[in-house]
Amino acid sequence: PAAATDAARDLLASVYGFADFRPGQAEIVAAVAAGQEVLAILPTGAGKSLCFQLPALMRPGVTLVVSPLIALMRDQVRALQAAGVVAGALTSANTDAETDAVHAALADGTLRLLYLAPERLVSARTLLARANVTAIAVDEAHCVSQWGHDFRPDYLQIGALRKSLGVPLAAFTATADAETRDEIVARLFDGAQPRVFLHGFDRPNIHLAFAAKDRPRAQILDFAAARRGQSGIVYCGTRAKTEGLARAMAEAGHPACAYHGGMEAEARRAVETRFAVEDGLIVCATVAFGMGVDKPDIRWVAHADLPKSIESYYQEIGRAGRDGAPAETLTLFGADDIRLRRSQIDEGLAPPERKDADHGRLNALLGLAEALACRRVQLLAYFGETAEPCGNCDLCDTPPLTFDGTESVRMALSAVLRTGEW
Ligand code: ADP
Ligand code: MG
Ligand code: ZN
Repeated sequence: PAAATDAARDLLASVYGFADFRPGQAEIVAAVAAGQEVLAILPTGAGKSLCFQLPALMRPGVTLVVSPLIALMRDQVRALQAAGVVAGALTSANTDAETDAVHAALADGTLRLLYLAPERLVSARTLLARANVTAIAVDEAHCVSQWGHDFRPDYLQIGALRKSLGVPLAAFTATADAETRDEIVARLFDGAQPRVFLHGFDRPNIHLAFAAKDRPRAQILDFAAARRGQSGIVYCGTRAKTEGLARAMAEAGHPACAYHGGMEAEARRAVETRFAVEDGLIVCATVAFGMGVDKPDIRWVAHADLPKSIESYYQEIGRAGRDGAPAETLTLFGADDIRLRRSQIDEGLAPPERKDADHGRLNALLGLAEALACRRVQLLAYFGETAEPCGNCDLCDTPPLTFDGTESVRMALSAVLRTGEW
């Protein structure tokens, strides 16, 4: 293992130009390189790609990488190729020359990483059986979860592929809840227990704040106005609201646009590209604005409506501040949100036990919204981590007054607070 770590460090420097592993990476790289089966749960921005790319270079043969988005695959292949690694992708966006190059590199045994779009898994079966595939890596592994909003039916093919190829599988995701984890193990690993790595959910640079809905549109506009010129996302509960709020933002003088799943693919891509290259754009979006968002310097994320669960909340605020610089968040909640989220769960198609779990995850978020002490302590506790009061949430900034006395004590106290005299 020590030698493996040295080899990994050399590659880290020579291929990526990085001096050190980020927390969690070294152990995962060592396990995957050793051919162990792994489920790694690391927050967004933790550096999961490297955890399967580096081992691929330490192992003989080809590592098959399954990833849900063509754009993400192409970015990774481009970066690997620029670093001198023989990598390729087979997707519907390939040019003939790209596809020919992949086949040639497979034939002469030089290919190290083969990225495959999930919808190609079945048609590529013969190709894969003949290729010297020695490992499988599954990025965004929560896409196998039938009840998550990123569900990709083609991910259900992966388990059978693992069995037929008889090679170790490593799965990566930022989604931490126990149900999704169990589903990944059942569907990708055929129930065999992988080594689980669960790491570092704290994002200390992200300021956490909640507010009861009072004048919701004005609250969001004020929040944006205080951050004029900074890139931000406003998550909205409905498609109509993304458009209404984007218009209101534009009227208030912010560069802003809407994004939701009802828009044409081309229009959505235009927003993604604009957001990536333009400073200070505000995107008012539904949760459809998600996995493909890879911008490191998003300075704020606001929720105009309460997210559906504590996991969704964590993932959505986690898009802010991936560069490590300070980032702000604000989540609004009201009685209507709670009713809406409850009825969405009740009216959904999930089986009863899943609905119970979804109510539980919504309740965990409500608990966080109504917390009386450090929100980060409570958020991290949900993910199984202990922490000290953070000094970077609204409740650490301004501890709420908790009254456990009688009304007269409360009146007296508030009189003291008004006058400042004891
Ligand atoms: P994730 O998939 O976990 O969200 P990525 O793999 O996209 O994260 O990596 C996020 C960013 O962190 C990328 O820009 C990547 O180059 C960078 N990164 C990863 N590992 C390291 C490291 N050891 N040192 C410095 N930067 C790193
Ligand atoms: Mg990733
Ligand atoms: Zn705090």
